[in-house]
Amino acid sequence: MTELAEAPAVESGGAITRIPHWIGGKRVDGTSGRSGAVYNPALGVQSGAVDLASVEEIDAAVQNAAEAWESWRTMSLAKRAELFFRIRELFHMHREDLAKHLTAEHGKVLSDAMGEVARGLEVIEFACGIPTLIKGEFSEQASTGIDVYSIRQPLGVVAGITPFNFPAMVPMWMWAPAIASGNCFVLKPSEKDPSASLLTAELLKEAGLPDGVFNVVHGDKVAVDALLEHPGVAAVSFVGSTPIARYIYETGTKHGKRVQALGGAKNHMIVLPDADVDMAADAAVSAGYGSAGERCMAVSVLVAVGDVADPLVAAIKERLPKVKVGNGLEPDSEMGPLVTREHRDKVASYIESGSEQGATLVADGRESAPDGDGFFLGVSLLDNVTTEMDAYRDEIFGPVLSVVRAETYDDALGLVNDNPYGNGVALFTRDGGVARQFQFDVTAGMVGINVPIPVPVAYYSFGGWKASLFGDSHAYGPESIHFYTRGKVVTSRWPDPATSKVDLGFPQTR
Ligand code: NAD
Repeated sequence: MTELAEAPAVESGGAITRIPHWIGGKRVDGTSGRSGAVYNPALGVQSGAVDLASVEEIDAAVQNAAEAWESWRTMSLAKRAELFFRIRELFHMHREDLAKHLTAEHGKVLSDAMGEVARGLEVIEFACGIPTLIKGEFSEQASTGIDVYSIRQPLGVVAGITPFNFPAMVPMWMWAPAIASGNCFVLKPSEKDPSASLLTAELLKEAGLPDGVFNVVHGDKVAVDALLEHPGVAAVSFVGSTPIARYIYETGTKHGKRVQALGGAKNHMIVLPDADVDMAADAAVSAGYGSAGERCMAVSVLVAVGDVADPLVAAIKERLPKVKVGNGLEPDSEMGPLVTREHRDKVASYIESGSEQGATLVADGRESAPDGDGFFLGVSLLDNVTTEMDAYRDEIFGPVLSVVRAETYDDALGLVNDNPYGNGVALFTRDGGVARQFQFDVTAGMVGINVPIPVPVAYYSFGGWKASLFGDSHAYGPESIHFYTRGKVVTSRWPDPATSKVDLGFPQTR
């Protein structure tokens, strides 16, 4: 077995680790002379320096992938499936190593990091079924003596550009179906927590993936623009914030690429008066503060309908002091730090602006943050939030939950449907009829009924509506196989020499 990378400076901060690219099956030091600082957010110290790629380095990675594609595209489905089973085993064996990389650079608690890896593994397991997933259709005798069949073929070199908040899982959403479908992949992970992508590359090599099929280039806008403009890149998958998602979609499609760009979110959880208040309060705390609110499916707005508001806010308030905030490596920590100091300060500014703009500050995370240099914030709860407030309008992406009080179910539904985002939404009720009407009426891509974070299982696809998705393909699941392949329809005839004749008419099907 090859030597795998240690999680960077997990325990103490330690020395600063250089984080290079991965091109053609090996680590390649960057030559641009530019690097980005990577932090251990629990300690507030720099742990790594990530190489930031130049246009030439992006070109080298794409060239490498294109060369590898010539043979990768011919590998049989049987061998690809076998390889994916090996990949699955290896990632399963190393799930804790991966999780430690996530905790070290993102800050999420280790149990949550293990959960991230587990959800990513489900997508790898889905990809093991590639022989079935990529099957075409066949129509015998579509016309007399003529058969018609469809096949799906890989696109070539495809790129993935990913956000900081799921440094292992979101890349898995992309590379697993893309590679299983016969493409070669160039990953541009977030420069804030890039190390998990290198361990991913090492594990793929260890499993037997040929060199050049999976590449990692680190970088910022320079690298992203080079990928978007590169003629050798056939498709781009993006997950990140809405302004960048819009830019990626517009620039990528302008350069003739297939693009799916998943954007930000402002997820609402509606609680109706008949809901189980304890169940709803538990769900709101887990979904609002889990991973310090840095999940695109985190609940950010709690819509309390009618007279459920007072008991619900009281039940949440009672739970908040029990949320243990601390270093993600401590076994009793339930919530870690924010990813960077700047992000922590930006999140904190919404607590300030919320109370200035008239919200009731029920819990102030600035006061309950642990001491030390880490980028910590405790849990915050704002009540009586209205739609004009910044805390309602912006995606905060931190441990700040806003309660909006609505008089009726229709008012609550209106809030969700008027919101520019449409990623996830949840309804808490005991009324099946209302729930069924809700799933019909609501304009969001992923709906939870008494489930606060309705991330679809790997054999369905993940994606939002409105400003949460640009392009029409959702991530992973069946839509990913469609996204990473293109269709070809073959109409074939094996001529009977006796009936062979020239016919200048337009082909008829009867
Ligand atoms: P981000 O948009 O800042 O960065 C995402 C990627 O884009 C990174 O790789 C980054 O290097 C690159 N990038 C950043 N600025 C760029 C620019 N100006 N030009 C070109 N590329 C650029 O997002 P983030 O802060 O890393 O992640 C958090 C965001 O991601 C949140 O908005 C969250 O909702 C969203 N997100 C969405 C989903 C989803 O499935 N819809 C999932 C996870 C995260």
